[in-house]
Amino acid sequence: MISHDRDFTIVKTSFIHGRGVFAKKFIPEGTRISEYMGERILKANLPDDLIHGRSSLIYVMNLNELYAIDGERGGNDARFINHSCNPNCEVLFFNNTPYIYAMQDLEEGEELSFDYYYGVGDQKNLTEEQKREWFPCHCSAENCRGTLIHDQ
Ligand SMILES: [Zn+2]
Repeated sequence: MISHDRDFTIVKTSFIHGRGVFAKKFIPEGTRISEYMGERILKANLPDDLIHGRSSLIYVMNLNELYAIDGERGGNDARFINHSCNPNCEVLFFNNTPYIYAMQDLEEGEELSFDYYYGVGDQKNLTEEQKREWFPCHCSAENCRGTLIHDQ
């Protein structure tokens, strides 16, 4: 199933990585572009899901202490939005549902991105080198921190 929501975007080969999501037309700052859809899953089950091939965990978005949303199962195009350390979109939650919003005006053809704020439980114990090696970022933004991990 492919959902284009309000039909602001199109999926094609990315400048950043793999597939990406692009503005089909001008999108004004503050626009709610789409929901980040997917199955609600217990985070505790994720290792099992990976082992048993139910998910590659690539499109998992953190929701709260217990739950995450897996865009690989029941997801929409929003799962193809790439990470950037200098993003033009952000994720805002309403009623525990994540939505993609434009942080700035997006021109037609521009690739959408948001900061994944990737976190692993014990990331405080990782060195900067390990973060860059194990969770590398190749977004090529001027302020790229070199890793998806973000210490909040
Ligand atoms: Zn980066």
